[in-house]
Amino acid sequence: MIADLSSIVIDANAACERVFGYARKEIIGRVGAELYADTASACSVRDDFVAEIGTVTSRALWLAFRRIDGSVFNARSTLVAIKNADGLASGYAVLIQTLPTEVEDFADSDLSLGDLYSELRIQTNRYRNTPAMLHSIDQSGRIRHISQAWLTRFGYREEEVIGRPLGEFLTDKSREDATRMLPEFWRTGRCDRVPYTFLTKSGVPVEIELSAIIDTTAGLSMTLAILEDVTERNRATRRLSDQADELRNFARVAAHDLQAPLRHISVFSKLLEDDLDKFEYANAHENALQIQQSASRLRGMVQGLLEFSLSTDKRLSIESADLGLLVQNAIEAAHDEVSRSGAHVSVGALPTIGCDPVLIERVFANVIDNAIKYVAPDIAPDIRIDTEIRDGASCIRISDNGIGIAREFQDRIFDPLKRLHGEDSVYPGFGIGLALCRKIVEAHHGRIWVEPNAAGGSTFFIQMPDLADEAEGDFDTELEKAVGDR
Ligand code: ADP
Repeated sequence: MIADLSSIVIDANAACERVFGYARKEIIGRVGAELYADTASACSVRDDFVAEIGTVTSRALWLAFRRIDGSVFNARSTLVAIKNADGLASGYAVLIQTLPTEVEDFADSDLSLGDLYSELRIQTNRYRNTPAMLHSIDQSGRIRHISQAWLTRFGYREEEVIGRPLGEFLTDKSREDATRMLPEFWRTGRCDRVPYTFLTKSGVPVEIELSAIIDTTAGLSMTLAILEDVTERNRATRRLSDQADELRNFARVAAHDLQAPLRHISVFSKLLEDDLDKFEYANAHENALQIQQSASRLRGMVQGLLEFSLSTDKRLSIESADLGLLVQNAIEAAHDEVSRSGAHVSVGALPTIGCDPVLIERVFANVIDNAIKYVAPDIAPDIRIDTEIRDGASCIRISDNGIGIAREFQDRIFDPLKRLHGEDSVYPGFGIGLALCRKIVEAHHGRIWVEPNAAGGSTFFIQMPDLADEAEGDFDTELEKAVGDR
């Protein structure tokens, strides 16, 4: 705006109209000081400037202004003398430089632009270096700001993250959850402790509780989210609940499964007693054999249960392992069974990942042994082993042409002592192998499951993250002890 020497505004441009909200003609004719929040101090600044206008040609300072709606904003106000051809002042121009709102908060008459920038740097560094996982996304869901703690936990560098959609760092399921919840979040402006699973750069899932607000101070809508890593807490809770389930299972097994061979022993020893009373030695021999078989079955079950129960707590010995090599070892160990049954085993490309190789080889051995064992009579086992990527992690598939597993048993076969065949079936076993496989794979934060396949057989899936970057420590020693006799 331009004012004459009596400080009446004689002109104002379109930017003044926009900033103050007045029409140009409403500004013209006013005493300029009325546009300031503190009219009295604006008058005294103006009077000082006008008094010195012969010698001082400009003056700049931060002052608060008032808009038409009464709201106040800080701006840098520069007064510049306007002189006529004779060098005499005829009035002065007032240049008003406004600031973005977030900077404006700090702008009072004592702060220079340099102060404001250093304040901004302090705030930015505070965000970046706070020992909490923070991120801010814009309305398109892209990451705009990130804290170092976030980057460290997920294994990324800042330039790999800024500008990318947050969904890329979530599992498929969490991405769907986030897409469903975001509209509600943008509407209400906050969310508290929403569970999501993020993936580290190497694919390890990290369970998070995310709380966020919408931050509009910059005029742009952005979120400020704080992430709490609850992986350990959830794992401990799950472990406790698994152990409670296991205890219940044990009670059930002891009460039911172990009693079957015991009943046998009791029935046949009664028969044996009768045989001996009647001197029927031929029968006695047969009944004694039955007792021995039941006793040896009972021993196998008790040993299996012991091995399984000791494996509750685990410490893994993680190293980089070529899964193809582990599969080959498992096939070689089953050499006799492979040649006896005429099995054909084909192995596709398998990845190299961080895992406990001895335990994972044991998992492969169990599943491959079963694939050879559970085929219909006179059928040569045909086994295919390959890999696919699901949810960003390696997923090993072991497919057979065996007798298949009814849908209702597809989960239960992973329970200890669960078998789908009677004691006298052609398929020997104690029902511990798959229970142990599940325990080992879960100790690797992975999952094992079975689905029917087109050949009428079963496909076992083993999905595990690459634990190469995981520090050991969360796993304890007992699993290795338990399977020490492998
Ligand atoms: P085991 O082989 O000693 O009985 P497992 O725990 O290895 O014990 O397997 C549990 C049960 O799952 C087996 O008794 C069998 O009924 C079923 N099973 C496992 N693998 C297969 C397979 N590849 N095809 C069909 N059934 C299977």
